Amino acid sequence: MLAEMRREVELYLAAAHGTKKHVPHTRVLLGRLWSRSRTHPYADVWPALDAICEVPPRGTIHGAAIKSAFRRRLLELQGGQRCYCRRWLVGTAYAKPIEHVLPRRHYPQFSIDFWNLAVACTDCNSLKTDDVWGTISFTRRRYPRAKDFTEAFHPRFYRYDDHVRYARLETNLSSVVMFTGVTAQGMHLCRSLLHRIAAKETLVKNNPDLAPAIEQIRNFESKAEGLRLTRLDAFGAALDQSILRLLE
Ligand SMILES: [Zn+2]
Repeated sequence: MLAEMRREVELYLAAAHGTKKHVPHTRVLLGRLWSRSRTHPYADVWPALDAICEVPPRGTIHGAAIKSAFRRRLLELQGGQRCYCRRWLVGTAYAKPIEHVLPRRHYPQFSIDFWNLAVACTDCNSLKTDDVWGTISFTRRRYPRAKDFTEAFHPRFYRYDDHVRYARLETNLSSVVMFTGVTAQGMHLCRSLLHRIAAKETLVKNNPDLAPAIEQIRNFESKAEGLRLTRLDAFGAALDQSILRLLE
């Protein structure tokens, strides 16, 4: 397992930048950030990755290009589906946020750890919030192994189908989705996230006024990636809060 994990990290670093000639320098930059995140006091280096704009002799390296390469590799591994709700990401114009499985607010030391990253959707990303799932120590320096995630589902270590079943019925005007956990971790994922996702989908997709409006917002968000959309973010958060209140 360890050898397999190392090989995967190697593959990922080799693809860490879309432009081949930038890969060696990108590896150095990522190595530097990785060491900074793991050195006491632990630092969340995700914003620093965003800010990368280096001009080595052979061209400019931007953090955004590194993130795109992360996203491409992770999507390949996920078979083009979102890590929690399993909706398809391929062929959609929606934003594809990179999710930190252990939230970086509580685990800054894993802010650019390959095993801590997965591609989610804006719904999962916003409805998951910064909740801490499980009992992994905040001070831990090494990334936990698969066997350490006994309470919560880990999208990079676990096979989704072993833990969660979903059924989705979609017509041109309506949509219903149901999630059921089949293990302790799958049930935890349903309780803490997927039941909210199902409620949101039911609310939005079955309302003929809301559905096209949300669709437009999503298309806009995907084009505006990287911009701070304060009011739109506030609207999204308010909608999520209303759904949570309806569920209570
Ligand atoms: Zn999702």
